[in-house]
Amino acid sequence: RSPWPQARVLVAGLGTSGFAAADGLLEFGARVQVVDESDSGVNAERGTLLETLEADVRLGPGSTATLPDDVDLVVTSPGWRPSTPLLRQAAERGIPVWGEVELAWRLSRPAKQVPWLAVTGTNGKTTTVQMLESMLSAAGLRTGAFGNVGRPVMEAVLDPEPYDVIAVELSSFQLHWSSTLQMHSAAVLNLQPDHLEWYADAGAPGSTGPDPMAAYAADKALIYERVTHSCVYNVADPATERMVEEADVTEGARAIGFTLGVPAPSMLGVVDDLLVDRAFIEQRRDSALELARVEDVQPLAPHNVANALAAAALARSFGVPATAVRDGLRSLRLEGHRIQTVAERSGVRWVDDSKATNPHAAEASLAAFDPVVWVAGGQAKGTTFDDLVRRHRDRLRGVVLMGVDRAVIAAALARHAPDVPVIEVATPHTGAMQEVVGAAAQLARPGDTVLLAPGCASFDMFAGYAARGDAFAEAVGRLDAEE
Ligand code: ADP
Repeated sequence: RSPWPQARVLVAGLGTSGFAAADGLLEFGARVQVVDESDSGVNAERGTLLETLEADVRLGPGSTATLPDDVDLVVTSPGWRPSTPLLRQAAERGIPVWGEVELAWRLSRPAKQVPWLAVTGTNGKTTTVQMLESMLSAAGLRTGAFGNVGRPVMEAVLDPEPYDVIAVELSSFQLHWSSTLQMHSAAVLNLQPDHLEWYADAGAPGSTGPDPMAAYAADKALIYERVTHSCVYNVADPATERMVEEADVTEGARAIGFTLGVPAPSMLGVVDDLLVDRAFIEQRRDSALELARVEDVQPLAPHNVANALAAAALARSFGVPATAVRDGLRSLRLEGHRIQTVAERSGVRWVDDSKATNPHAAEASLAAFDPVVWVAGGQAKGTTFDDLVRRHRDRLRGVVLMGVDRAVIAAALARHAPDVPVIEVATPHTGAMQEVVGAAAQLARPGDTVLLAPGCASFDMFAGYAARGDAFAEAVGRLDAEE
C-alpha cells in the first residue's frame, strides 16, 4: 500500500522543481504544504494552482522562517543552502530532507521504474545529456532529457505514457539532496572548482570537512553509488576515475573511460578522425568499433568531442547501436548561448558562450579561438582565474570586464598578463552591455573573435545566462546602427 496518503510533506521553494514536487506529491495523495519567501508573479500563479489541488500554500517574507510541527518530510529546492533556518531545523529534528530528484526516484519505485542514464560534472552536463537524448531517440527509444536541463524528473514520473529510458542531468546540489538513487549508468564529465561559496557554508550536513572543494567533489561522486551497469569517467581527469574506484557499485558494474586520445580496451576515444568504442564490442569481433566521425560533433570543439564520447558511452552501455550514436550526433541542434556565433562584422566574429559560468568552462571556449577579445565577469562564486590567465594569456588581444567580481579577474590579469589591454566597465547600470560591446569592438581587429565567456554567474546584472547572452547579441546588433 502506498505510504503517501499518510505523509505530511513540506515543499520548500516554489521554483520549477518545487512546483513539480508538490504536484507529484498531491497526485500520490500526500498532504502538502508549500512555502516560499517570494509571492510575486509566477510564484503566485503556481501557488493558486496548487491551492485548487488542496495544498496549503504560504508565500511571502517570513513564510520559510520556521519549520511547522506537523511535517514528516521536507522536499527542498536544490539551491537552498543547508544552513537555511528551515533546513537546519529539519536536520535538528531528524526530519529527512530530499530534493525533487530523490522524491521522483522514490515515487517511481518499484512499480514503473524506468532506467536512468545520468550525467554530472562541472561543465558540459546539458550538452552531454542532449547528445545522449538524441542518440537514444535515434535508436527508436521513447526517451527525454530531464533534471537540471530544466524539465523536472517528476514530469517523467507523472507521464502516463511509459519511457524506455531517460537521460538525466544532475547538478551537485541535486545529488546533495539525494540518497538512494540507483543509476543504470552514470558519467562524471570533469571536476573543477565551482559553487565553492555554497559548499563553504558551515551548516552543510554531510559535508566531508571544512574543505569546500572536497564537499563539492563528494556530492558529484554520489552519482556512481549503486550503479548497475557502467560508471563512465574522464581519462584526462583522474579525480573522476578515483570517484569510480571509491564508489560502492552493484556487482558486475564496469568502469568505462572516455579519452580524446587513442582508447585502451574498456574505453571510448578518438582514432584519426573517428570516434571509436573499445568497451562495448563483442569479444571476438573487431577490436574497435567505429561510432561516428569527429566532424559529426557540432559545434566542433575538443570539449564537445569529449561530451559526445561520454554520451556515446552511456548510450552504448544501454545497448544503443553504433549507427544511432552517429545519427543522434548528426541530428542534434544544441540550445543557444553555448559557443554560438551571433554576428560577423568587419572581419570580426562575435561569439556568445554566456553558458560559461565558471573559469573551467571559459577556458574550454577560450582554447577554441585565437586571437580573442575576451568578455568576462559577473559573480565569481569564490573561484579564481590565475590558472586560466596563465594558460591563455598569449591568445588574448584584450579583455573587457564587467560585473561585481570583475576585480578578481582584473587582479589575475595584472599578475600574469600585465601587457594585455583591459577595459573595465562599471556595472550594473542601464546600457552596461552596450558599453562592454563597444569596448570589445575597439579592441578587436579583423580576423579576431570577440568571445563572451564570462567565467562567472550572471545574476548580479541579469535574470540568467540566457538573458546575458541575449543582451550581448542585441548590443552587437546595435553596433551597426551606431555606425
Ligand atoms: P553545464 O550543463 O554543465 O553547465 P553546458 O553543456 O551547458 O554545461 O556547457 C556550459 C559551458 O561549459 C559551455 O558553454 C562551454 O563553454 C563549457 N563546456 C562544455 N563542455 C565542457 C567540457 N567537457 N569541459 C569543459 N568545458 C565545457
